[in-house]
Amino acid sequence: MINEKEVLKIMEEIKPATLIAATKYVDVSGLEELEKLGIKIFGENKVTSLLEKYNTYRGSCSFHMIGTLQTNKVKYIIDKVEMIHSVDSIRLIDEIEKQAQKHNIKMKILVQVNIAKEESKHGFLTEDLKNVFEYLKTKTNIEPRGLMMMAPNIESSKTEKYFQEIKEIRDNLQKEFPEFNLNELSMGMSNDYLYAIKHGATYVRIGRALLK
Ligand SMILES: *Cc1c(COP(=O)(O)O)cnc(C)c1O
Repeated sequence: MINEKEVLKIMEEIKPATLIAATKYVDVSGLEELEKLGIKIFGENKVTSLLEKYNTYRGSCSFHMIGTLQTNKVKYIIDKVEMIHSVDSIRLIDEIEKQAQKHNIKMKILVQVNIAKEESKHGFLTEDLKNVFEYLKTKTNIEPRGLMMMAPNIESSKTEKYFQEIKEIRDNLQKEFPEFNLNELSMGMSNDYLYAIKHGATYVRIGRALLK
């Protein structure tokens, strides 16, 4: 069940950033409720549930892929999502390029950063980012729009430094790669979104906090 009051409160708190409803906990009727409240983007973290919802949902919101994406599944979602937040390998970049070419589209992506160098997390290490963006220059059907991170599972006040760090990294990349528009920072979840907003998040991905 969607907590209407909470959704509206969060949308207000994070302005002018965009609230991406992380919809893994809800079904299609939940999506419809969220749309009525003003949500424009649904974030799915699994290909199967994205496809299931995409095929039954009849509204006008768009879908973003926010979770780990296996290379062999890109073909199923390439023409259904507006953006892929979780680009974490060169192989995945190559596959997105290939599939986007097939469909004659330009796919917007965010490069996922493993900001705290955690074994358990996906994403490029900070020191690799320059090479990744150099590589992206060679791709014609990919439009890089910024960075994405998942904060470590520690006390939310302690994750703040990672939000600050990734913003600086993005600002430096933007200077170095003026050919790209790296406006977007996708960071902040139910427990830490206010810290993420403070440090320039443009997309916050929230799931649990939207529920009753
Ligand atoms: C579920 C999920 C979120 C939202 O997490 P909550 O703690 O429920 O707010 C954000 N990003 C990704 C990639 C997720 O899978």
